Amino acid sequence: SSSEDEGEEYLFKIVIIGDSAVGKSNLLSRYARNEFNMHSKATIGVEFQTQSLEFDGKEVKAQIWDTAGQERFRAVTSAYYRGAFGALVVYDISRRSTFDGIPRWLDELKTHSDTTVAMMLVGNKCDLESIRDVSVEEGKNLAESEGLFFMETSALDSTNV
Ligand code: GDP
Ligand code: MG
Repeated sequence: SSSEDEGEEYLFKIVIIGDSAVGKSNLLSRYARNEFNMHSKATIGVEFQTQSLEFDGKEVKAQIWDTAGQERFRAVTSAYYRGAFGALVVYDISRRSTFDGIPRWLDELKTHSDTTVAMMLVGNKCDLESIRDVSVEEGKNLAESEGLFFMETSALDSTNV
């Protein structure tokens, strides 16, 4: 009943993965604090940010985890993935090598996550149209073949954040 629902909390852990410098930390800071940093260094200290949103009349909390730069050394631990309900798998549309790296991230995600994880493929930096290296079609096709949601984003100009 509605009275029993009162005060109930819904908390979902979301992880962001993908190669170094694709814009993971800036997507999170744009979403959580509306901040963008042109010269961001590897995240130090911050493990996650929690953002509340209303869904179906209920308060839902998204606890979004950012790697503290471990992806640079391919050292993202299983603790990072543990209990994840959703995952954003990010590449940079202006750097093909980061798109080529996606299958490895999907493998790692599937190896470490204990439940069925909702996954979204994210092509970030779509503001860099003039130096685009991966077409929208390629992103869509990969997402479709792997059963992922798909979106292109820009942490710089906030598109789809
Ligand atoms: P991370 O290593 O994946 O966390 O990537 P960062 O968030 O640290 O971003 C790496 C670099 O890409 C930084 O210089 C950012 O300013 C830049 N960057 C991040 N997102 C975007 C974007 O949407 N567009 C553009 N043009 N640059 C971005
Ligand atoms: Mg980062």
